[in-house]
Amino acid sequence: MQRNSRVLIVGAGVAGPTLAFWLAHHGFRPTVVERSRELRAGGQAIDVHGRAVDVLEKMGLLEAANARRTGIRGMDFVDGRGRVLARTEGFSLTGGVAGSRDIELMRADLATLLLDATRESVEYIYGDRPTAIEQTDTEVTVTFGSGEVREFDLVVGADGARSATRSMAFPPGSWRLHRLGRYIAIGKITNFLDYDRWETFHAAGQDRRVCYFAGAGSTRAMFTRTDPTLDVDEHDGQSLRARLRTHFQHDGWETRRLLDEVTADDDFYFDDLRQVHMDSWHRGRVVLVGDAGYCASPASGLGTTLAMVGAYVLAGELAAAEGDAGPAFTRYGDRMRPFVEDCQERARQGGNLYISRPRFWLQMQQIRLSNVPLLRGVMSRLAAGSKERIGTGITFPEEDLRTADAA
Ligand SMILES: Cc1cc2nc3c(=O)[nH]c(=O)nc-3n(C[C@H](O)[C@H](O)[C@H](O)COP(=O)(O)OP(=O)(O)OC[C@H]3O[C@@H](n4cnc5c(N)ncnc54)[C@H](O)[C@@H]3O)c2cc1C
Repeated sequence: MQRNSRVLIVGAGVAGPTLAFWLAHHGFRPTVVERSRELRAGGQAIDVHGRAVDVLEKMGLLEAANARRTGIRGMDFVDGRGRVLARTEGFSLTGGVAGSRDIELMRADLATLLLDATRESVEYIYGDRPTAIEQTDTEVTVTFGSGEVREFDLVVGADGARSATRSMAFPPGSWRLHRLGRYIAIGKITNFLDYDRWETFHAAGQDRRVCYFAGAGSTRAMFTRTDPTLDVDEHDGQSLRARLRTHFQHDGWETRRLLDEVTADDDFYFDDLRQVHMDSWHRGRVVLVGDAGYCASPASGLGTTLAMVGAYVLAGELAAAEGDAGPAFTRYGDRMRPFVEDCQERARQGGNLYISRPRFWLQMQQIRLSNVPLLRGVMSRLAAGSKERIGTGITFPEEDLRTADAA
């Protein structure tokens, strides 16, 4: 049993269950509290990239994750009348080059995989949330919405970009939100175009994009648009749906039908893209991981990678320090800082092509590209950009120990 072994993790998204897995592995006793009543099934395909694939492999989940790949084989760009402007086999904007080591899978599939891997070793509480977090030098008292009060040794906020843990445990002014001035909205659709592992993009002007995505077993539509004034209440589903309709209702291709289906989805997902910037991710016995501490936004294409790597590194530093939180949290911060900054910078530079890069989209509307190999080359270069270098650009705690032993 480790020192400081009672750890409360707030949030069962990607970072929370990954951290719980590794803490249990190292002899801690994690409890995860999730405000939803059950695992949230919404969202699109996400990308497990670079060192996050190593984390999955170390968890023994690589084969299972590979079996759940979306398997997207390529994509079309269409104009407002549905005419194909360009087609790329073996490459898609959401998933990159087909057959690479990166794993594109539905967010819900990844979340289920992580949950299944931790069910036995971790206590999960669904449908509840902390309403107060108070810490002394020796422990943290957490009051839950249900009225229950419990003591923990450490608390980890893994509750996403709008983290309530951050608001409760860190002073105002200790984080900055950087809005990127765009949003994405995603919902389930029927596969009415009968695609087989294929995606299609329609760019309406340079700032509105609609994507029809039919991966193995799930079909989704995604809308993305510039909206610099955006400051949304994520719980006000009605006005988010109305906003989406207003912005896209006059667009061509199949947009009207996609709007109808997406806005009827109960698990409709909407995100105004924002980054979280903090000088320190810990305060006493409370620490943040994933989007809660350093959201890079979906425009980075590396949010899930950051969350999984961050969780693995945090658990590794706690284990290496034998539960001594102060030094472990400091080393976690030092190790993660350059990696986080690179991921966030990539998003600001327009890393994720399907969300950013208005000029590219304008050109797509204007020209009918016949040179597909050239197009594929340009797109893979633009889409990959610095991703490979950044996604592999961090060493894990045990790798330092190995290097030190060898020296
Ligand atoms: C439903 C959903 C769909 C998504 N879809 C996409 C997508 O299509 N594309 C993309 O790039 N990114 C998407 N994301 C974001 C992406 O999953 C994250 O950026 C990334 O995986 C980092 O994960 P995380 O665990 O830090 O945060 P998240 O995945 O956001 O997980 C945070 C978890 O904390 C829970 N939570 C929040 N507040 C509280 C609280 N007060 N108490 C208890 N629990 C709380 C949330 O319900 C959620 O389960 C989605 C997130 C969600 C929640």
